[in-house]
Amino acid sequence: MKTDVLVIGAGAAGMGAAIAAAKRGLNVVIAERDEITGGILNQCIHNGFGLHYFREELTGPEYAERFREQLEKLSDRIKVFTDCHVLKLSEDRKALLVSPKGILELEAKAVLYTSGARERPFGSLMIPGDRPSGIFTAGVAQRLMNIDNRKVGHRALIVGSGDIGMIMARRLTLEGTEVVAVVERLPYPGGLLRNVIQCLKDFNIPLYLSSTVIEVKGRERLEEVVIANVDEQFKPIPGTERSFKVDTLILSVGLIPQVEMLDGLVQIDRRTKGVACSNIGQSSREWIFAAGNCTAIFDLVDYVTKEGERAGEYASRYAMGERFSQNVPISPGENVMLTFPNFYNAVDDLTLYVRCKKPMEKAMLKVGNFEKIFEDLIPSEMIVVKIPNQKLSGLDRIVVELKEV
Ligand SMILES: Cc1cc2nc3c(=O)[nH]c(=O)nc-3n(C[C@H](O)[C@H](O)[C@H](O)COP(=O)(O)OP(=O)(O)OC[C@H]3O[C@@H](n4cnc5c(N)ncnc54)[C@H](O)[C@@H]3O)c2cc1C
Repeated sequence: MKTDVLVIGAGAAGMGAAIAAAKRGLNVVIAERDEITGGILNQCIHNGFGLHYFREELTGPEYAERFREQLEKLSDRIKVFTDCHVLKLSEDRKALLVSPKGILELEAKAVLYTSGARERPFGSLMIPGDRPSGIFTAGVAQRLMNIDNRKVGHRALIVGSGDIGMIMARRLTLEGTEVVAVVERLPYPGGLLRNVIQCLKDFNIPLYLSSTVIEVKGRERLEEVVIANVDEQFKPIPGTERSFKVDTLILSVGLIPQVEMLDGLVQIDRRTKGVACSNIGQSSREWIFAAGNCTAIFDLVDYVTKEGERAGEYASRYAMGERFSQNVPISPGENVMLTFPNFYNAVDDLTLYVRCKKPMEKAMLKVGNFEKIFEDLIPSEMIVVKIPNQKLSGLDRIVVELKEV
């Protein structure tokens, strides 16, 4: 089978990309391994989605539904294959799709890779102790509660105070699970202030900063978790141990872009650990475009949709025969932890996403001839800024810096 554009993964990025490509008149196939489109949005039943894109506050499923309706309207051009796993993508632009109906080889002029991210597992934390049941990643616990309607435990401790960890603390409490603590190794909360207030303070859930889990205990089911304060190198400080009797440990310690299928096909950025791509979503292999959490972990779904739409537009222009010129590399400089995209192509303006390395009261963002002051910066909140072409013309390398002012 042949198509103009193949989209791998139907989360926010994939749906946005497919719609943008179909609107340019191309034939699109979306392959999604889940039973329905929407990706992670389906299990995020809290509100807080779509404020930028729709200027409305929606739940995850409501946000996904708006795009599902558009896929439906464009069904003469977009074929949606659900329950369909893309197993392999080869250098000759052929993909192997597997579903209960069988195996299909599909050849595409351009591929949009929008496979999202996976969660950092328990093993990555190297916590000593037993390996009982009752330890879940936040996403797995969220799916069990919000989709399968299962209660995960009675007393829980959460590791990680990013937005996902805090949202889970509130969700567990509302479902009748007592959350005894959220533990964060940084000296400040890892997520938005609004979530500290709405998800922790409003529910009297204690937040232990500069702390980590040092031991888990339990035979079959988790029985106890020991935490301790950490020093600046995140090493536990002896004598500061504190123990909690819990049957559930929730890990919310970060997402990692899911890129395994593209191994050897495209360049992976060593900082974001995602597909390295330009501001038009093009990867180092010119016919593979990528968007969403498989390129970098974005704070808001609105950004993911925008990036998906942009990649969808340029992938379809590529499929129609247009070629894009040389890219300029973008790299993080002073006080910058990471930047996205990784390359700049002058065919479009640059929407730049930046994470600072440490909290900063006031800083000047410098990118080529562009400068802008930002206040109250924290690493967990991305700076998003649109930089016009003319501010970047003539540069053969773009360094992004945050100067303290
Ligand atoms: C718990 C949680 C709370 C959040 N809260 C908010 C919030 O309040 N506000 C907000 O704006 N954002 C929030 N976000 C962020 C936002 O939901 C995500 O950034 C966005 O939905 C990611 O979209 P995506 O398309 O990149 O990835 P995903 O939604 O992960 O979609 C990727 C899709 O690809 C499919 N896939 C992967 N590999 C294959 C393959 N080989 N073959 C076929 N299909 C494949 C997957 O099944 C999945 O459906 C939250 C995220 C989480 C996890």
